[in-house]
Amino acid sequence: MAMSENSGVISLLEELIRCRSITPDDAGCQQILANRLRALGFVCESMPFGDVTNLYARRGDAGPVLCFAGHTDVVPPGADDEWSSDPFEPTVRDGAIYARGAADMKGGLAAMVVALEQFVAEHSEHRGSLAVLITSDEEGRARDGTLKVVEALQARGEKIEWCVLGEPSSEQSLGDIVRIGRRGSLSGMLTVNGVQGHVAYPHLADNPIRSFAPVLAELHEVEWDQGNDFFPPTSFQVVDIQAGIGFPNVTPGELTARFNFRYSTVWTHDSLEKRVHEIFDAHNIDYELNWHLSGEPFLTKPGKLISAVSVAVEQHTGKAPELSTGGGTSDGRFISPAGTDVVELGPVNASIHKIDEHVLIADIITLSSMYRRICEILLVAD
Ligand SMILES: [Zn+2]
Repeated sequence: MAMSENSGVISLLEELIRCRSITPDDAGCQQILANRLRALGFVCESMPFGDVTNLYARRGDAGPVLCFAGHTDVVPPGADDEWSSDPFEPTVRDGAIYARGAADMKGGLAAMVVALEQFVAEHSEHRGSLAVLITSDEEGRARDGTLKVVEALQARGEKIEWCVLGEPSSEQSLGDIVRIGRRGSLSGMLTVNGVQGHVAYPHLADNPIRSFAPVLAELHEVEWDQGNDFFPPTSFQVVDIQAGIGFPNVTPGELTARFNFRYSTVWTHDSLEKRVHEIFDAHNIDYELNWHLSGEPFLTKPGKLISAVSVAVEQHTGKAPELSTGGGTSDGRFISPAGTDVVELGPVNASIHKIDEHVLIADIITLSSMYRRICEILLVAD
């Protein structure tokens, strides 16, 4: 029994890896997943937007809804000849499968589907509903993927209580870290206007470097917040400044700069933008500032989902996971605002997006039984 369960999850992973699903191309992965889920009684809906393929599957009509989520797209392999083996042909070495997407995140997808198969086989009358939300647009622009599916579900009044994302959250060993939120990311594109002039006649010119310098100093000095139990303090970083026409006796007429905030739940993008404008306006400087929001911060508060995930991890590893908000953004930023508790639990992330990406076979098998345990804790009445 154990052997066939194990080979089930690995053979599904291998099947997914052979689909060359470079973002945003799903390359048939979702069809494979939908076929497996349909056999379990899931109603599978394809929700394409633009050139992005999305799958939403649900088993049951009642609440609460426990949803597993992830993406089938992968980043390009990079230089194929630097790989030790074909990046789209799963290759086993030292107990690990090497291939693009093995860890990020086809391993998580295979673990989910097999966990659901085993859970439904044993608890076909589970309470609530099971759902699966898969996109092919996580590694790319992320505009026509999870964001659009969540909007469509909200528009028809469909609520997801709990979501487990299979993104590779672990650092040293499987389950050592579970992500329970992410910082927000907000970028500013700045233009400071001045008047170009001769360096010897500064009173006839208006040097934007001079007018921006004290603002920049203040932006660096501000203590935006002190963070909280789950977030480090908000950070402000300048990534680019350009001015000058490349001539030693001419002062520039314009300065452009880009900066980025990684911010905690103390702020929303509105409140943060407002504070920045107050600082600029206090300096009496002629500027234009455009903003780009990559994602608001989100945090899942302690509750049933976090405790179920922690228990499932601890039962398999002997150690409770660290609850973290580190790392970059993920599709959790689109799921959480609908009022869903979101947690990310997946394989070790050390090799993701790299040459020779790989995942331990034993980890994917264990991850699958962690997912199954989460289903049992949340959807089987005791
Ligand atoms: Zn990923």
